[in-house]
Amino acid sequence: MRVDSAQRRTLVTGGAGFLGSHLCELLLAEGHDVLCVDNFSTGARRNVEHLLGHPRFELMSHDVTAPLHVEVDRIYNLACPASPVQYQRDPVQTTKTCVLGALHMLDLAQRERARILQASTSEVYGDPGLHPQPESYWGNVNPVGMRSCYDEGKRCAESLFFDYHRQHRVDIRVARIFNTYGPRMHPQDGRVVSNFIVQALRGEPLTIYGKGLQTRSFCFVDDMVAGLHRFMEAAPGGTGPVNIGNPQEFTVRDLAQLVIELTGSSSKLAFAPLPRDDPVQRRPEVSMAEQMFDWQPHVSLAEGLRRTIAHLDGLLSIDGSPQVAATSG
Ligand code: NAD
Ligand code: UDP
Repeated sequence: MRVDSAQRRTLVTGGAGFLGSHLCELLLAEGHDVLCVDNFSTGARRNVEHLLGHPRFELMSHDVTAPLHVEVDRIYNLACPASPVQYQRDPVQTTKTCVLGALHMLDLAQRERARILQASTSEVYGDPGLHPQPESYWGNVNPVGMRSCYDEGKRCAESLFFDYHRQHRVDIRVARIFNTYGPRMHPQDGRVVSNFIVQALRGEPLTIYGKGLQTRSFCFVDDMVAGLHRFMEAAPGGTGPVNIGNPQEFTVRDLAQLVIELTGSSSKLAFAPLPRDDPVQRRPEVSMAEQMFDWQPHVSLAEGLRRTIAHLDGLLSIDGSPQVAATSG
């Protein structure tokens, strides 16, 4: 079902990343012109290679920490590494990407009178003291910890979005994305779903950080990009912030068992130290997304994992056996 009928010139920053590449596909299928901007730091050209010949698709190499001058009427600001391993690799660049990236894209939105959606995150809730997390919760973030370049960067970006809205009347949408997984996650991304699948496919131990009793709620990528698009095209005035995620909650250990079962692997579990400030529990309250733009996730964890396993299995048979990336703790 099409969400809207108007053909739009849409910018997707971080469009060559995991979520961004799926979003570009959806937007093209909906009839829009898509300009994909990326610096290829965690994304890859091969994620959008199949779109390069499309007459309404354009790929531009650009870093959002620098200003951008293009003509657009919709902006999805996704540029930013999302995996803790990747965003902690160069934390100063992560903060710059979050803050300067938001600033430059908001300036562009203001100039172009474009509507802009920010890919914010459940990390703005930090290690939450309230469960599940409603949008009204202000969060519990360590401002000086290993995760703060990302958490505080994304919180500052939200602050900028609302100030541009109040001060300059920019038409904003702020989506708080909860853990999302699916095909095109990089085998060395470092996030739990891709790590466990790669380890299981290689018959290696699955690395559980801590006791594995911490929880996450995993959303399949197709559900996520449908939610982002619906939010973008929802009636004017609905700024959010809105949680988008799958409220089904699993422990990390549950996830490991399910991955072993679905891959038919003989892998065992190996326990490693829990990284500092790792949130103990996470589950979105999603009634606002349902009310505002009639969105609910549909893909179960088992089904989504099957599709992700098929993808990573294919990739490993081409690329060999890269080691998964691990946190420095
Ligand atoms: P990803 O790392 O696969 O994609 C990020 C993309 O942004 C990559 O293509 C990368 O090369 C690009 N990028 C990074 N810094 C850039 C810069 N300075 N200039 C231009 N491009 C840059 O991660 P993802 O999972 O696709 O996440 C996309 C967005 O969604 C991020 O903003 C992330 O914070 C947000 N998000 C994702 C999740 C999730 O579970 N996937 C959860 C919460 C929020
Ligand atoms: N995790 C794990 N093993 C791994 C990678 C991650 O046990 O190989 C844990 C991590 O400590 C966290 C959860 O899985 O509790 C989700 O981690 P991820 O990096 O995917 O995302 P986060 O929600 O922490 O940003």
